[in-house]
Amino acid sequence: LYDDFYVKSLIQTIEDWPEEGISFRDITPIFSDPKGMRMVVDAYVHRYIASDITHIACIDARGFLIAAVLAYELQKPLILVRKKGKLPGKTISQSYKLEYGEAELEIQEGATQEGDQVLLFDDLIATGGTLFAAIKLLTKQGANIKEVAAIIDLPDLGGSQKLRDSNIPVYSLCAFD
Ligand code: 5GP
Repeated sequence: LYDDFYVKSLIQTIEDWPEEGISFRDITPIFSDPKGMRMVVDAYVHRYIASDITHIACIDARGFLIAAVLAYELQKPLILVRKKGKLPGKTISQSYKLEYGEAELEIQEGATQEGDQVLLFDDLIATGGTLFAAIKLLTKQGANIKEVAAIIDLPDLGGSQKLRDSNIPVYSLCAFD
């Protein structure tokens, strides 16, 4: 059973990383705690096992780790949304704003098709900029975003609300102020 207190106690807050003034929520201890890892994955399995998602997409790189296990368990195809220059062959890319500067995400051409019902996974939602860039890429190739899932939501940064305002359902396991 999912235990919010247990999972939150695993998440460490690193002050002033990677920049002065940022409180970084570190989920690495979830990966090194088999009970926590299983609890997190099982929460998503429980939520999506009877849903009509056809694909799972995930964002470079922490998003890969949970989404890959989920795709295995739900027996769904996994789509990688990667940082620029990592995917071979023909790709489509989308730039987006970070707190400092710009970044670019890519998927392979043909990674999604008209009618795909995609669950999009990342570890954390802050401003939502990363997820919106991924959504642009996935929907450009005809997919529908069924839901965005994350471990952590930072509601004060507004991303999850912006997604909901765009009619994209959002599911997160826990939130931090
Ligand atoms: P956004 O684009 O929503 O502002 O930022 C979310 C993206 O940045 C996610 O891909 C996430 O991995 C990363 N990120 C931003 N802040 C944090 C944080 O405090 N902890 C973790 N684990 N990732 C973060």
